[in-house]
Amino acid sequence: MTEDTIFAPSSAIGGAIAVIRISGPDAASTNKLLSKDITAVPQKLVHVSIKARGELLDDGMAVYLAAPGTYTGEAMVELNCHGGMQTVRAILSALSDLGFRPAGAGEFTKRAFLNGKLDLSQAEAVMDIINADAEQSRKSALMQLSGSVSRRVHEIQEQLLDALSGIDAAIDYPDEAEKSACAMLPAYLRRAEALAGRLIDNGRAGRVLRDGIRVVLAGRPNVGKSSLLNALCGSDRAIVTPIAGTTRDTVDEKISIDGVPVRLIDTAGIRDTGDAVEQIGVARARNELEAADICLVVLDNGVELTEDDRRLLRDTAGLPRLFVCNKSDIDGTPKLLDAIPVSAKTGEGLDRLKREILTAVLPQSVDCSCVTNERHLHALEQARRAICAAESADGLDCAATDIADALHYLGEITGDDVDEDVIDRIFARFCVGK
Ligand code: GDP
Repeated sequence: MTEDTIFAPSSAIGGAIAVIRISGPDAASTNKLLSKDITAVPQKLVHVSIKARGELLDDGMAVYLAAPGTYTGEAMVELNCHGGMQTVRAILSALSDLGFRPAGAGEFTKRAFLNGKLDLSQAEAVMDIINADAEQSRKSALMQLSGSVSRRVHEIQEQLLDALSGIDAAIDYPDEAEKSACAMLPAYLRRAEALAGRLIDNGRAGRVLRDGIRVVLAGRPNVGKSSLLNALCGSDRAIVTPIAGTTRDTVDEKISIDGVPVRLIDTAGIRDTGDAVEQIGVARARNELEAADICLVVLDNGVELTEDDRRLLRDTAGLPRLFVCNKSDIDGTPKLLDAIPVSAKTGEGLDRLKREILTAVLPQSVDCSCVTNERHLHALEQARRAICAAESADGLDCAATDIADALHYLGEITGDDVDEDVIDRIFARFCVGK
């Protein structure tokens, strides 16, 4: 339990109503600012006047939440006041005069974690819910908050702990237990590895639920990439001109297709150019292509394939890609048999293109309970490596060391076994008031 009492506005500045949160052992002292004793009626919202040094600051609502059944696990107060900047500032200043301290980023959730209300993967899900900008991302973050990741990690931990206790028994009582430990160990480790492997495989595919599918539009200048990006976004974000080479840098837009977040990245047209600025854009475009979940190789229905088109087809050969033949509204000859005909101008073919993007990138069915957080996936990979090392270890002692390593990496996900600086880094990414 922490010693000091913290406070912060939890709502965005400028709304009609502001919510100010207070948490810590002395939260009940907020009463000194209120016209009624809210601690007498815990968990009930009470209409109060808020005052300091004899001056009325606002008229609002307040609730006292008794420890430990609160978000942070500490005594908490929530004040609802008018949202004007001056009102909020005056109340924050009065709370400071009570000896409370302004909360740091994510400090309420950090306290919830330290007080055992949430494990680390659940605490991270809180931020993912706030940041989720597509339906599937929100669902996946909610599943994580409800403990979906922790439960799966515990399943692996159980196998490893059983393996470890078998080894301990064999070391303590070599005569009786060694044979059975050696017989059971491979099965425990195989199960643990299979569970970790499944989580990693699903997670790599499901990562897009959190970060969005990276779709990179590539094509020589003037095939209509910017127009296509605008048509897919339904806005005029990218500059469209008939002059080749106008998109010199990359343009990045977020959209949602069937609730899945998608990042559309329009690149500078890839072609041989003497223009120094355009060359930088072309180099960036090539980097974006390498990092794409899928490239849209855009061709122009109205003109024959050029040498630049052919080079792009060769350059993207090893990458995940879809061929898109834009300007289907004008007469032309078929370019590639499997190109999707679309028109950024009339909207023809856009729905099919969106569907094909999802089909190409997402697994058959998207499992919202999969591991989507890069930190968790990295720890799972390290754990799997340690489990594999245990499987091929020379002797029970070495296997025990590898299993302990695997348990350490799994503990990093839930926060049971994690360095303080990792915790600090995670909560530093939170907003103040959460
Ligand atoms: P980018 O250089 O590949 O980004 O191409 P732009 O989006 O700037 O488009 C180049 C030119 O093609 C502009 O004059 C657009 O109006 C035109 N254009 C783009 N898409 C279409 C389309 O679907 N049909 C027709 N007819 N013209 C288009």
